Formats: sequence, structure tokens, C-alpha cells
Amino acid sequence: MSEPLLSVKNLTIDYIGDETDFRAVDNVSFDVAPGEVFGLAGESGCGKSTIAFAISRLHRPPALIRTGSEILLDGRDVLDLDQKELAAFRWREVAMVFQSAMNSLNPVLRVEAQFYDVLKTHLGMTKVQARERTAEMLRLVDINPDRMRDYPHQFSGGMRQRIVIAICLALGPKLVVMDEPTTALDVVVQREILQRINELRRKLGFSVLFITHDLGLMVQFCDRIGIMLGGKLVEQNTAQAIYRTPQHDYTKKLWASFPSLHGGVLA
Ligand code: ADP
Ligand code: MG
Repeated sequence: MSEPLLSVKNLTIDYIGDETDFRAVDNVSFDVAPGEVFGLAGESGCGKSTIAFAISRLHRPPALIRTGSEILLDGRDVLDLDQKELAAFRWREVAMVFQSAMNSLNPVLRVEAQFYDVLKTHLGMTKVQARERTAEMLRLVDINPDRMRDYPHQFSGGMRQRIVIAICLALGPKLVVMDEPTTALDVVVQREILQRINELRRKLGFSVLFITHDLGLMVQFCDRIGIMLGGKLVEQNTAQAIYRTPQHDYTKKLWASFPSLHGGVLA
């Protein structure tokens, strides 16, 4: 594997409680190569979102990242960034799309204004420059640029999610963290969006950390997959190997609970 873009090393995260601490992420290590899609799978509560938030530096108390943990992006430890560096890091280096991201659009602002906000703040673009970039990004996610003057409620859920993805990609991040990005949408729309993301990834070259509880989507969409159980990463391998020759008992059990996939997805 080439030099990784993202290297997570011995990541340990506790939720600090009054009585006891809860270890949500336990000594997790994995790498994501440039342009690669790495998936994190595992049942609800196993620590996937906690990892996603830590990588994006969006974790908040009571989450506490333990000493000895490292999150290296292009060789720099994300955990060492100060507030000023963080502002640049967010959006420009790492963008995060989560399940309810489509609801994070401001309902009283036109789509155009929401792009402008980000493009002015981070790239110092003028209105004219921003309008041009907005049109380009909307085209990339299959939305007619003429609609940039519309308000969020004038779009369907799937379109709003694609708009958020377009805003996230407008600054050219190296890594896009997607935590259940399409779970709130119907199956057909989910697949359309993921296909689009995949095309964009090939074109723009960013890496993706992809989180979903949908193993079928996972295997189709990811190059490599890590399987989590109770805060630990118990197995990681290529999507093919995880699917065809799972090693860990838990991975085998996960597949057994999705019998319809066998012989279907990758056949
Ligand atoms: P996943 O995304 O895999 O469903 P999470 O990362 O959201 O899992 O949660 C991992 C564990 O940490 C769960 O057991 C959850 O209950 C716990 N947890 C998450 N957020 C908090 C919090 N703010 N305070 C205490 N415990 C939390
Ligand atoms: Mg989650």
C-alpha cells in the first residue's frame, strides 16, 4: 500500500461518567490510502460514530481521547491542531457528511448563499467566483445550477443530501468522512447518491471513510472494510475477503444474519 492519507493508531476514546468511564473505542488502528474507500461496519453502539467524530475533531465532552492515540492525516497529528489550525482543517482537509446532514442546511437561506458562506470564509471567493463554483458543484451532483436560487424546502431529501455533499466537496477535501450518509433515504436514492460519490471520488481523488450498518452497501462501495465489535476493530481486510472468507467469528455471524447477500452482491 502507498503512504496512507489517514493513519489511525491506537485510538482509545472513553465517555467520562460520574461513577465510571465507558470505553467506546478501544485501541483501534487502521490506515486509509489516498483515493481509497475504507468502511467501518458493526452493530449499533460499537463505536463507529465516536471514531468518525474524533477524526473530524468534532468530538465533545464527555468524550475523551486517551493519551497515546494518534490520528495522522498526511503525516500530521489531527489531535495536536490548535483552534486556528482546526478552522482550516475542517472543510479543507476533512469534510464530514452524516445521516441528518440534509437538515443542517439553513432553511431561510437560498442554496447559493450557503455555498457562498463556505467559499467566502475558506477560500476568500467573491460572489461571482462563488456562483461559478456553486454551479460547477451542483452539476457534479446532478442538480440543475439554475436551482441555486431555491430554498432547501424546495428540494427532495435526496437532493438536499446531494447539496450538502456538494458543499462539502466544494473546498476539495482530501478525506470525506461519511457516517450513515444515506440511511434516512430510500434504497434507490441511496444507491444513486453512492454511485455519484464514487464517480466524484474517481474524478477528484479524495478518500472516503464510510460508515453504514448496511453490509450490502458496504461491500459494494468499499475497497477495504474494518469490522468493529464493542469498541474494538476485530478484523480488517479487502471487501472481497471480508465477504468471501471472513476470519473472525463475529464477521461470520454478521454475514449469517444477511443471508440474502450470499451469491448476490458480488457474484
Ligand atoms: P455507533 O456509531 O457504532 O452506533 P457510537 O460511537 O455512537 O456507536 O457509540 C458508541 C458507544 O458510546 C455506545 O455504547 C454509546 O452508548 C456510547 N456513547 C455515545 N455517545 C455518548 C455520550 N455522549 N455519552 C456517553 N456514552 C456515549
Ligand atoms: Mg453511529
